[in-house]
Amino acid sequence: MEPTFSPVQAPAAKLKLSQPLSLNRPTLVVSIHDVSPQTWAECDRIVTEFTALGLKRASLLVIPDHHGRGHSLLNQDFCSWLARQVHVGHELVIHGYTHLRAAREGESLREKITTRFYTAGEGEFFDLDTATAAHLVEQAKEEFREAGFETEGFIAPAWLLSKQAEAGIRQIGCQYTTRLDSVIDLQAGRTYYSQSLVWSVRSAWRRAMSLAWNGALFSMLRGNPLMRISVHPADIHYPMIWRQIRRCVARALEQRASYTYERWIARQRAIELTTIK
Ligand SMILES: [Zn+2]
Repeated sequence: MEPTFSPVQAPAAKLKLSQPLSLNRPTLVVSIHDVSPQTWAECDRIVTEFTALGLKRASLLVIPDHHGRGHSLLNQDFCSWLARQVHVGHELVIHGYTHLRAAREGESLREKITTRFYTAGEGEFFDLDTATAAHLVEQAKEEFREAGFETEGFIAPAWLLSKQAEAGIRQIGCQYTTRLDSVIDLQAGRTYYSQSLVWSVRSAWRRAMSLAWNGALFSMLRGNPLMRISVHPADIHYPMIWRQIRRCVARALEQRASYTYERWIARQRAIELTTIK
């Protein structure tokens, strides 16, 4: 049976500028990954704490059917929470479909390392073909639309998006995607390089590495017009990690204006127009 989605009241997100933008100020995009009813409690705390730090906009990466355990948008209370986030200025981004990739027979060592070691089997779009990716993301876009949400972007789990899948999401009209090291305007064909801060908390050594790496990366990005900070629900359970994330967001906000990816892409298009003239 086809699931049906009851629309909730949310202002439609549009790729246009509702307010004038300062085009000179450096920017910050904070994204919260893996938002779903299963991670809702953590996501709500993260959003609340970031808001208290002064963050006005963030991109919320919502998994349509997290690990196939039930469609996120069939949960009315969760949809109401999403609608409130959109209302205060955050953006919803489609993030995979189930976020799971089944291990395949005859995988090369590189494929095994990438999909199992790096992502623990969650690289759903790592090797999807064009048609499958287009179909899945179009289905997700339609489900979000039925629930009252417009989405402009797609971000693959662990940023693992095959070239074929990227072509598929471009074809169905996705405006942008991101990778670990870049933001891609799919329709304008432009790539903007900025390595995202992101923490891995799955083991003690990963957490230690993450603290060292992100501390260094924050300093390295000081001169970059865009800083990206990507957080996962589990990050909030590790006090040293969470302290560093909060400090990075607070320090970035001293210099930078916060954007959603959607709004950031709109800003870049405006900049390109003014520089062409
Ligand atoms: Zn994810």
